[in-house]
Amino acid sequence: MVTKRIKVYGIVQGVGFRPTVARHAASLGIKGSVSNLGPYVEIYAQGEEPQVDKFTDLIRTMPPKRAAILKMDIKDKVVPAYDDFNIIESAKTTGEIFVSPDIAICDECLEELFDKNNRRYLHPFINCTCCGPRLTILDALPYDRERTSMKEFPMCPDCEKEYYDPATRRYDAQPVCCNKCGPEVFILDDEENRKGPEAITYVREVIANGGIAAIKGIGGFHLACNAYDNDAVKRLRELKHRPSKPFALMMRNEEEVLKNCYIEDYQRGILTGHQKPIILLKRREDSMLAEQVAPDNPMLGCMLPYAPVQSLIFDYDDDIKMPSCLVMTSGNLSGLPICRNDDDVRAEIRSYCDVVLTHNRKINIRADDSVMDFYEGKPYMIRRSRGYAPLPYMMTKQFKGSVIAYGGELKNTFCVAVNSLMYPSSYIGDLTDLKGKNALKESAERMLHLLEAKPSHAVCDLHPLYNSSAAAEESGLPLIRVQHHYAHILSCMAENDYTGEVIGISLDGTGYGTDGTIWGGEILKCSPDGFERAGHIRPFLHTGGDIASREGFRIAISMLIDIFGDDAESKCSDLGLIRQGTFKTYKVMHDNRINTSISTSCGRLFDAASAILGIRYEQSFEGEAATALEFKAMEYEGEKDLGYMDLTEGDVIATDRIIRYLTEEKLKGTDIRKLAYAFHYMLAKGVAQMAMAKSGSIKTAALSGGCYQNKLLTRLTEQELIENGFNVLLHSMVPPNDGGIALGQALYGMHKINNQEDI
Ligand code: ZN
Ligand code: ZN
Ligand code: FE
Repeated sequence: MVTKRIKVYGIVQGVGFRPTVARHAASLGIKGSVSNLGPYVEIYAQGEEPQVDKFTDLIRTMPPKRAAILKMDIKDKVVPAYDDFNIIESAKTTGEIFVSPDIAICDECLEELFDKNNRRYLHPFINCTCCGPRLTILDALPYDRERTSMKEFPMCPDCEKEYYDPATRRYDAQPVCCNKCGPEVFILDDEENRKGPEAITYVREVIANGGIAAIKGIGGFHLACNAYDNDAVKRLRELKHRPSKPFALMMRNEEEVLKNCYIEDYQRGILTGHQKPIILLKRREDSMLAEQVAPDNPMLGCMLPYAPVQSLIFDYDDDIKMPSCLVMTSGNLSGLPICRNDDDVRAEIRSYCDVVLTHNRKINIRADDSVMDFYEGKPYMIRRSRGYAPLPYMMTKQFKGSVIAYGGELKNTFCVAVNSLMYPSSYIGDLTDLKGKNALKESAERMLHLLEAKPSHAVCDLHPLYNSSAAAEESGLPLIRVQHHYAHILSCMAENDYTGEVIGISLDGTGYGTDGTIWGGEILKCSPDGFERAGHIRPFLHTGGDIASREGFRIAISMLIDIFGDDAESKCSDLGLIRQGTFKTYKVMHDNRINTSISTSCGRLFDAASAILGIRYEQSFEGEAATALEFKAMEYEGEKDLGYMDLTEGDVIATDRIIRYLTEEKLKGTDIRKLAYAFHYMLAKGVAQMAMAKSGSIKTAALSGGCYQNKLLTRLTEQELIENGFNVLLHSMVPPNDGGIALGQALYGMHKINNQEDI
């Protein structure tokens, strides 16, 4: 007879872990106990040694569906004999804490939702032990009903019975409720006071008739309309001031997705899985969806319903015929944090919609939808949020202490590090105004409270004017500042659990450099100790200040002035680059450095190339011109090996030679698909060659920065490095864009405080 104490770390709370363990124990005749201790589940297992070993194997190999075990710690213990196996109530401890993300409605609950004989028939808040809201309703840990938004809804006797009965699917399910005792949906600020079934029917009616509805889901509000109705989608675009950025779609079921998109095998599991991110799928040529959904874009962002109320919008017990695909875009002002309560809606998006369907269960933490692309059959995250955050990354390197990293300015997320665990937050959004900054501060405070973390330092960007840096300063903690592109590379290293030396290729929009200029196309020799700027794209001029980021043609003009001198004017006009005013105006601004800045931004280089090729002269959202250039390049089917063009000039990558080549070839009438491809090819070769030239003894490269959302660029860079014997670290579940940098900042901060250097 032996007794072992097993500590299981990971996503083990709110996923039915304890009942599963109890079942395994019963099946093997193991005695002992299991309890939730906040950071982990603690099990005492008593029995014959082989049985106890089998039991630990079972826990490892057959945990509950939604659990994720990061670590099991097993020790022999001497304790008195147990009579049976017991589940012990939650106790509070401190230490490492895991918070479960929200989990999409499971198949069993979905079936019950539409079963007329079930007592939760059409209940908009149906959930069970293995599905439902988690992070978004949490107040504090451990995860128990009285520490969630569900504390305001006492269970009815029937629900209570299920909650306490280990044999049911709702045993220990904190948000369990039913039509009798659960929260309620209602129409916001409605004269007729519609709620429950009446409210749902009314919203369906509005959408079916071409209207726009705001709908409160799990992590915030969405704006929804019929995705087959071009006028409805166009109206939503006008109201949201969003002329062309693709809208996310929610489809009734997988069949509907197949009608509009191609699904690869490696995508299917994620489309239908329990996290339900928006995934980017190739649009079918015969899709009948409104053109306005994603103008000029071969991809569609699709997801399936994940909150029961969303399923009810598609199917309900009334006579309304609903479309099978809805636009489902975040309910927010462009780029800003998603609305999470009725007051947000009244202040920000009420005028964008015809009706608001809300409910009385509080959202404590925002969780925007995650957005996932794929690279070589593997997830390639664009936005990591609902369903994933705040799952931690566990570093093999042992750290002690805690820091909070405040991230960047656009696509903001933050990251809390406690010892060797890094918890990247859900998506906050752009911090261009006070609301963004306040949302960041408020979410950060909540996460620190949840994780019971007491950070000793705040980590932030070097940029003196970032709102994220201001939030860090306002925390009152001593600051550790990290250069933006270095943080990108650190983020890629952290995701890969790599803390050695790398040669980093950080291709990005813009970020503040250590010399006070704007960087964005950087070759950085990095380790967690620090970095050296080993190379960069040839600096170029932005004319027009901030608008240059929207108007790529301005950058193209100033590049052509530098490259072609007196010939620039005719080249610019032949390429149609002079969109406003006259060439002379641009020339005067350029020559006298009026309203100009200098940068090495790879993002702006893409914008300029897109303009020179006549693909996009300007853009209404970040990345539009670059994405269009990538799509054009992917259409190219000719010779893929375009020869080697050496761009290395000391520590400068002579990207101006690519621009000269594109200009001359475009004016000769060369196929722009080939030129778009050539741009990617030469840029990838150029940065890889520079990286290799500067790598010294380092044989590992890391690719990060917003431009590496571009998969063609990623593939071409990776190939070049691999062919030359390099090991290449890429992102997968953490975005290469600014949504990922908080993780890199956190790694730097933890490394620094653990080395007790002068901070
Ligand atoms: Zn369920
Ligand atoms: Zn009930
Ligand atoms: Fe960046």
